[in-house]
Amino acid sequence: MDIRRVTEDFAVAGQLLPEQLEAVAAQGYRSIICNRPDGEAPDQPNMVEIEQAAEAAGLACRYLPVTSGKVADYDVTGFARDLDELPGPVLAFCRTGNRSMTLWSMVQARRGASVDAVIEQARAAGFDMTGLARRLAGEQLTGANGGKVWDVLIIGGGAGGIAAASSLLARDSSLEIAIVDPAEVHYYQPGWTLVGAGVFDKGHTVRTMASLIPAGVEWIKAAVMAFEPENDCVVLENCRRIGYRRLVVAAGIKLDWHGVEGLPETLGHNGVTSNYRFDLAPYTWELVQNLRAGRALFTQPPMPIKCAGAPQKAMYLSCDHWLRQGRLDDIEVEFCNAGAVLFGVQDYVPALMEYVEKYRVDLSFNHRLTRIDGDVRTAWFETVDDAGATVEVAREFDMIHVTPPQRAPDFIADSPLADAAGWVDVDQNTLRHKRYANIWSLGDAMNAPNAKTAAAARMQAPVVANNLLQDMGRVDGVAHYNGYGSCPLTVERGKIVLAEFGYGGKLLPSFPTWLINGKRPSSLAWLLKEKILPPVYWKAMLKGREWMARPEKAQSTE
Ligand code: FAD
Repeated sequence: MDIRRVTEDFAVAGQLLPEQLEAVAAQGYRSIICNRPDGEAPDQPNMVEIEQAAEAAGLACRYLPVTSGKVADYDVTGFARDLDELPGPVLAFCRTGNRSMTLWSMVQARRGASVDAVIEQARAAGFDMTGLARRLAGEQLTGANGGKVWDVLIIGGGAGGIAAASSLLARDSSLEIAIVDPAEVHYYQPGWTLVGAGVFDKGHTVRTMASLIPAGVEWIKAAVMAFEPENDCVVLENCRRIGYRRLVVAAGIKLDWHGVEGLPETLGHNGVTSNYRFDLAPYTWELVQNLRAGRALFTQPPMPIKCAGAPQKAMYLSCDHWLRQGRLDDIEVEFCNAGAVLFGVQDYVPALMEYVEKYRVDLSFNHRLTRIDGDVRTAWFETVDDAGATVEVAREFDMIHVTPPQRAPDFIADSPLADAAGWVDVDQNTLRHKRYANIWSLGDAMNAPNAKTAAAARMQAPVVANNLLQDMGRVDGVAHYNGYGSCPLTVERGKIVLAEFGYGGKLLPSFPTWLINGKRPSSLAWLLKEKILPPVYWKAMLKGREWMARPEKAQSTE
């Protein structure tokens, strides 16, 4: 055996024979990697024989066959993963050791080692890698972030991303984690409904990103432009690549303001507002306070949207104010919904209908906002007439609350991670990507059929943390997400219909009915929303304290 030690943890050899593996183990090696394809030469033992002998000698064993002279990028990626996952020291072999040495050298370059240093280390072990210099330099360019490859890279530092980082660290503080997000600030978006009703100041719903990134987690302040799952890296806007061993995607949803003609130009003026923007939620409250008579429109785009109840929450709280001020008789309220039902889970509809009737709201289903002209205070909707033909109808307004159309972020929709509709394609139970085993996703960006809410992300973060660590062999058992999402429907100031449900509309109440009956308006639920949930968000969910969110382990593992 001609074993060449390269580092403390890594060595290279020519062809090993089954009968030599006891001696390999006796020298302290704990794993072997075979880089030689079976059947390359007639005198070569095949992989089954090697594996059996390795097992008998107590050695972990991987087969990563590489054709001589054709080391591909995915071979390098596979070799890097083997090196990370196998117990060391690792002994890699092929016919002469050259292919194994080439793979190791390229992994080092990809991780940021200088070309000269790699060549020198190889030379010290008896290999000449000078012919590889250009390729090694290329690996450095495609390699990541000065060579750092993160144990876990999280895309997005919103509700899902920060919660996932904290839940991971709560389970294993030794993980090297980075969060990529270009945003200076992080928003508590569930608070915006209350800002639009004058209950919260908008300042209560924002904090600096820097103050929320968990201690020990690196913040890479940049936007991801593309995913290269085959190379285990993401590409930033400046073309820099960041490498990872495991990836978590939590980049939220795209608000498509341009999906309604004329909307970007008039938003924030002419009575046109939206609680879906931090800076405009106070304008909603200003409009509501100032409206004394006339017509108020509230719109809802096609699903999916984040917080499907938010369009009507804005409406109920506005109506409640007008009712208390004695103005509601002079204000005509219309809810123009692109969908066909008031709320997707039927159990909550009766309570909501009581308020629709109380506020005398005109419900217009199958009305999709397509165009708006603030100067003439008119909005146009696409709908279907009695004969089944698609028609456009116009509505004048004095104020209009617009919920914008929403879709998957472009950089996700255009990536290999996406399903046909553009969302990250995950298993709805494990939240693991269906095609890339080292990728998970949570929050609004992925395609599990749950209600897109922060409440859902609160339940998903521990599931992702558990399952990622289970994959690393650091915890036992796969956890399953049951589709939980919650929508506190603010039907009047001081009362909420607390919708809590999972996959298939199954009701999943957090509290016994005697305390909060989700199907009825509840003062306690309002207290929860106003006083309890904000600190639960900032101090528990974003800190890895999984209050009422401990993940349940599935009966059988994947
Ligand atoms: P977000 O929290 O939106 O975070 C996404 C992050 O990704 C952002 O920080 C963003 O900067 C980052 N990002 C985007 N693109 C990139 C990129 N290219 N590279 C890197 N990073 C990127 N939920 C409830 O539970 N209850 C409620 O009552 C409720 N009410 C709501 C009311 C309103 C008006 C709104 C707007 C939302 C409401 N929600 C509510 C929904 C909730 O806020 C979202 O579902 C939740 O924030 C989703 O979390 P997320 O992490 O997926 O996305």
